[in-house]
Amino acid sequence: MNKTPMGSSAALAPYASDPMFSRGRRITEEEAPTRNDFQRDRDRIVHSSAFRRLVYKTQVFLNHEGDLFRTRLTHSLEVAQLARSVSRSLLLHEDLVEAICLAHDLGHTPFGHAGQEALNDCMKDSGGFEHNLQSLRVVDFLEERYASFDGLNLTFETREGILKHCSTAHARELEAREPSGVGMRFLTHQAPSLEAQLCNLADEIAYNAHDIDDGVRSGLLSMEQLQEVPLVEHYSQETLKKYPHLKGRRWLFETIRLMLSEQVYDVIGTTQNTLAPLGLQSSQEVRLMGKSLVRFSEPMQEASEELKKFLFQNLYRHPRVLQTTEQAKEVVRELFLAYLHNPSEMPESFYLREDKERATADFIAGMTDRYAAKEHRRLGGPSRFD
Ligand code: MG
Repeated sequence: MNKTPMGSSAALAPYASDPMFSRGRRITEEEAPTRNDFQRDRDRIVHSSAFRRLVYKTQVFLNHEGDLFRTRLTHSLEVAQLARSVSRSLLLHEDLVEAICLAHDLGHTPFGHAGQEALNDCMKDSGGFEHNLQSLRVVDFLEERYASFDGLNLTFETREGILKHCSTAHARELEAREPSGVGMRFLTHQAPSLEAQLCNLADEIAYNAHDIDDGVRSGLLSMEQLQEVPLVEHYSQETLKKYPHLKGRRWLFETIRLMLSEQVYDVIGTTQNTLAPLGLQSSQEVRLMGKSLVRFSEPMQEASEELKKFLFQNLYRHPRVLQTTEQAKEVVRELFLAYLHNPSEMPESFYLREDKERATADFIAGMTDRYAAKEHRRLGGPSRFD
């Protein structure tokens, strides 16, 4: 079959990532006959076990607290939807955007940030635990699916996008294992591709919006209280101007819908205006700029930060959320100690590994909320969520 520029380079902006010029995979593979490399990355992510586990992992509310709350899976799909919309307008590579968005949370522990904090605490003398770095470990090593390599053997560009943050110490470790690899930009202060920058911002837009929705659904936030937040107040009043009799859920949904659309238009407009005078001719030139060019306008940035602050104080720190957070941390800590004392309680591929602490962290990080709770009971722990 002839090699065609799949991903239709003609529709790509010069500053977009192009699979034809990918920096490739860690282990060289033959090209797929009908799919470009970023499409193939996306497909591998969707077929991975870690991706399926996202359905039973907490975003903010624990998985068993209600069927309609976001989980890591629906969150990842919403991030991908938002980012793809923006990508199409900016002529970036949509397959790469989708691959990064769907993989961005693969390394999350069960029980959301509580799980990550507890695991990081358990690992404090053994290199720590960080979900971003863990997402990379999942796609680089932990998935066991392919005959000829560990992990998913994704392209540099997808892996670069997955590694959103990285401390200097971790970046040095990555560099030692993989010279001029995905750790490098944190040492040289370069930026990632525009596709990666976009996924980062779409993540924030998505969780700000859906956490309002879940917060009201849970009864922990009210529409009246949300009027304190200028961004929400603005769009909820806009909604009422158009539909004066709207109330309850539909008022909330219409408000969020309007807010999301305006944020998406704001990102597209602002980013286009930022990029136009720069005349960037390649994704490499984007990286050398050293800062994110996919961004909100300043007023939208400020408004979005206020919303984030509000959610932090009123939802993520709500006593009811904090109570389950503490229970979740106990489960993770007790599981960690139980496996460390009795490694053979873990599957063979984990307990035979030399670094017992890291193996235990990898095993626990991969668990869904309900599997972690079940294992905790099996190993003799009291039920923490009754
Ligand atoms: Mg996320």
